[in-house]
Amino acid sequence: MAYQAISRMLPHMAAASPTKLNYVFGPILSGRLGRSLGLDLLGARICSFDCLYCEAGPTDKKTVTRAVYVKPDAILAELAAHKAIDPSPVDAVTLGGLGEPCLNEGIGEIIAGAKSIYPATPVAVLTNSSLLWLDAAREDIMGADIVLPSLDSLAPSEFARLNRPCPEITLEMVKDGLVRFREQFSGRIYLEVLLADGLNDSIENLEALLQFRRLCRPDRIDVVTLSRPGAYPEAKPVRARTLEDFRRTLGAEQIPCVPSGHGPPGLMPARAPSTLEAAVLGSLRRRPQTASQLVLAMGKTDEELARVLGALESQGRIAAQKQLGAIFYSLAGS
Ligand code: SF4
Repeated sequence: MAYQAISRMLPHMAAASPTKLNYVFGPILSGRLGRSLGLDLLGARICSFDCLYCEAGPTDKKTVTRAVYVKPDAILAELAAHKAIDPSPVDAVTLGGLGEPCLNEGIGEIIAGAKSIYPATPVAVLTNSSLLWLDAAREDIMGADIVLPSLDSLAPSEFARLNRPCPEITLEMVKDGLVRFREQFSGRIYLEVLLADGLNDSIENLEALLQFRRLCRPDRIDVVTLSRPGAYPEAKPVRARTLEDFRRTLGAEQIPCVPSGHGPPGLMPARAPSTLEAAVLGSLRRRPQTASQLVLAMGKTDEELARVLGALESQGRIAAQKQLGAIFYSLAGS
């Protein structure tokens, strides 16, 4: 949809409460992209993987079928409405969501629409790399400025155990897709490796990643570990020493450890869309967080956050759980 067409919808959309936004979140702070506006292209936990560490929770629909899970018009109308409400500049518009964004067949149209709405802003795509072997999927994201693919392990058994892909996806397909994408894509590629203790922190993986890096030629590589609870308790962060060894060997960037790659991951809401309560609920919908993480992300005081968290917990809308040595809040029943 052209920006002109979207802009005709603005009076109606701008009047709508921003708390009703379903697919636009943020602006958010990202270790790799700066202040970024996030777009959810799935609207639900739909993914080709079911990673043990996923912050969005277990995948509800595991599939490799590409479809229009959310209509591009719906996402772009919300993006235009958001800009009308909050025209402050952002460093990136980032396509991700609660699953694998390349599953949305409308991703090419969404990239083009986002560029029309934010013409001076880079458009970034987070992906788990599982669909890049498909010509159509690669073609669809060629219009992006930055693509952030993830690749956690090149050891087949680790890949199967950690990323739990659909049976149709093999590691060879993922590798082949990434190499082909690099050959065709002239934008920037930031490859991400997420390490989980005892699951993919082997020397075998490190050596294979080092070799693959030469083939894939990313513009940068980021090695991170879990900083929040994953979907399954087996996923635990690696020790600082292991993280450092992988980073040094792979020549990774030193970024704050804000994982994990492709869905909502690594992204922190920086400002409430309208009320603090709505912002907290929107943020927790995408991943569990501690009170202090929410304080930093929202730019509010401890007291303000404590008041909202207390109210939401007593209403039964969020739940607190001790994990990784800290109290994490998540949406009740998620
Ligand atoms: S971490 Fe990313 S690729 Fe893995 S299940 Fe979650 S959304 Fe899918």
